[in-house]
Amino acid sequence: MNRKALFPGSFDPFTKGHEAIVHKSLTLFDEVIIGIGFNASKTYYFPIEKRIEHIKSLFKNTPGVRVLTYSKLTVEFAKENNAFHIIRGLRDGKDFDYEKSIALMNKDLNEQIETVFLLTDNIYGAINSTIVREIHKNEGGIEKFVTNSHLL
Ligand code: ADP
Repeated sequence: MNRKALFPGSFDPFTKGHEAIVHKSLTLFDEVIIGIGFNASKTYYFPIEKRIEHIKSLFKNTPGVRVLTYSKLTVEFAKENNAFHIIRGLRDGKDFDYEKSIALMNKDLNEQIETVFLLTDNIYGAINSTIVREIHKNEGGIEKFVTNSHLL
C-alpha cells in the first residue's frame, strides 16, 4: 500500500523547520505532497513561482516528495490526491492550540482524513516564517534559517 500524506502550508518561506518535518514524514509515509496553499485574497511576501522553485530544489534528490499548489479546502485537496493524512508541525503549545482547532474542524469536514502532528527538533523550534520575512525585508541574511535561500 502506498501511504501518502499531505503537508500543507503557505511556506512563505519554506524554512529548515519545514524541511525537517518533511524528512521526518518520509519515515512514516511513502509519499509526501508539499501543498502550497494559495489564497487569492491573501498577500504573500515571496512570489509563488519562487516558493515552488525553492522547495523543488530542496527535494530534487529525495524520492517520494512532490510539490504542488492548491487554492481550495485542504481536506478537498488531500482527498483529490488520495492523501488520507495531513501533516502539521508543532513548535510549542501555541502551535498546538491553533493546530488542534484546524485538525478538529478538518475532521468534521472529512472524517476519513486524519491529521498527524510531528514535533519539531529543538534546533528548529525558534524558526518562524514571519520573522524570517521581517529579517529579509530589512536586508538581513536568512541563510541560517532557509536552505538554498538564494533561490528566493
Ligand atoms: P500556515 O500558513 O498553514 O500556518 P506555515 O507555512 O506557517 O503554514 O506552516 C506550515 C506548518 O509547518 C504548520 O503546521 C506550522 O506549525 C509548521 N511549522 C512552521 N514552522 C515550523 C518549524 N520551525 N518547525 C516545525 N514545524 C513548523
